Amino acid sequence: MNFNPEHLSSLRIDANRLWQSLMTLAQIGGTEKGGVCRLALTELDRQGRDLVTSWAREAGMTVTVDQIGNVFMRRAGRQPDLPPIMTGSHIDTQPTGGKFDGNYGVLAGLEVVRCLNDHGIETEAPIEVAFWTNEEGSRFVPVMMGSGVFAGAFSLEHAYQAQDQEGKTVLEELQRIGYVGTEVPGQHPIGAYFETHIEQGPVLEDADVTIGVVSGSLGIRWFDCIVTGMEAHAGPTPMALRQDALQVATHLMQAVVSTAHKYAPHARGTVGMVHVHPNSRNVIPGRVKFSIDLRNNTDAGVEAMADEIKALAQSLQGSTGLRIELTLVSSFPAQPFHPACVEAVSAAAAHLGYSQMPVVSGAGHDAIYTARLAPSGMIFIPCKDGISHNEIEDAKPEHIEAGCNVLLHAMLGQAKVSPPR
Ligand SMILES: [Zn+2]
Repeated sequence: MNFNPEHLSSLRIDANRLWQSLMTLAQIGGTEKGGVCRLALTELDRQGRDLVTSWAREAGMTVTVDQIGNVFMRRAGRQPDLPPIMTGSHIDTQPTGGKFDGNYGVLAGLEVVRCLNDHGIETEAPIEVAFWTNEEGSRFVPVMMGSGVFAGAFSLEHAYQAQDQEGKTVLEELQRIGYVGTEVPGQHPIGAYFETHIEQGPVLEDADVTIGVVSGSLGIRWFDCIVTGMEAHAGPTPMALRQDALQVATHLMQAVVSTAHKYAPHARGTVGMVHVHPNSRNVIPGRVKFSIDLRNNTDAGVEAMADEIKALAQSLQGSTGLRIELTLVSSFPAQPFHPACVEAVSAAAAHLGYSQMPVVSGAGHDAIYTARLAPSGMIFIPCKDGISHNEIEDAKPEHIEAGCNVLLHAMLGQAKVSPPR
C-alpha cells in the first residue's frame, strides 16, 4: 500500500463492525429488558473475556494478563521498545447494566486496531487495548479494582481478599475463571492512555454536542453526619421545648445542595441516604444520620464546599444545642487529565468535524488511575437521557462511530505513523 498522509487523515473506522461487536458482546449476560448483567469474575465475565481476547488474537494481537486479571492486547509497533499508546476500559457491568458502559471503550479500541489492519498502517509505538478487572465494584469493593492496583492506589493483597456476598474472594474467582496472570500490576509501561466512554450524564445530549473533551475528574469528599436531639411525644411537647434532630439536619441538607449551586458549574452536592430515628409518625426525631457527597473539579473547590458545611454545622450546634458530628469517610482527589491528551482529543474532534465541548467526569473511570502513571485523557459521547447503570442505557450509532473515530486519530497522533520501509 502506498503511504499517503491524505489517506491517513481521511481514515475512518468501520461503524457497522463496531456496532455488531457491541451487540455480540452484549449477548453474554444479556437481560430481557435489553441490558447486560455480567458481574466481575463470574462465569459470564469469563465468557466475555474469552470472546474479546479471541477477537484480539484474530486481529493479530498478543495478549498478556497481570496478577489482578487486567488484560493487555497488543498490536506490535515498528519500535517495540517504545511504550505503547494504550486505550481501554472494562467489560464487567452492573447487575442492571447496559450494553455500552465500559464495553464501548474496549471494543472501540479493538475497532481502531481492526481499522489499522484493514489499511495496512504501521505505527512506530505499539498500540494496546486493555480491559481492567472489576471496574464497577458491584460484586467486589473497591471499585476500579484492576486499574487501582495497577496504579498502586491499594495493594494486590487487599484486592485479592475482597469478598462477594457469598464469601468468595477475588483471588479464588480469578483462579476459577483462569485469569490470574504472571505480570506484576503496574510493571507495564504506558506511553499515553485514552479511554472512550458514554458520558453517563445529560450534559452532551442537553447541549446537542457529539464529543465531550474530558478535562479531568471531580474531587470527591464523603461525610457521614449525625445530629442528636431528643425523642419526645409529638403532641404534648411544645415547639419551643423540642430537640428535633431532623429539623436541624434539614438545614445542613439544604446547605449541601446550595453550596453546590454556589460553586457551579462543576460542583455537586448530594444527600442520598437518610436514617431517621425512631422514624415514627408521632415521635419527634431524636437522631438523624445522613450522607453527604461533595464534588468539584479542583481539590481547593471541594475543600471550600466542605469548609462551608463544617462551619454551618458548628454554628447550628451552637444555636440549637444539639450535637452534630461530621465524619469524613472517604476522599478522592480531583484528577486533571494531561494537557497533551486533552488537546489530542480536541484536535481529533476538530479534524473530523464533530461538535465538541469541554466536560468533566463526575463518575469514576479507569483512566483516572492510569492518569497517575501516564499522560491520560478521555472521550465522552452522549447517551440517551444521560442514563447509565440501567438496562435501558442507550447510545446512538452515529455517536458510537464519532467517538471511535476521535479515538483513532488521537491515538495515531501519539503512536506516530511513518512511510513504509
Ligand atoms: Zn464504565
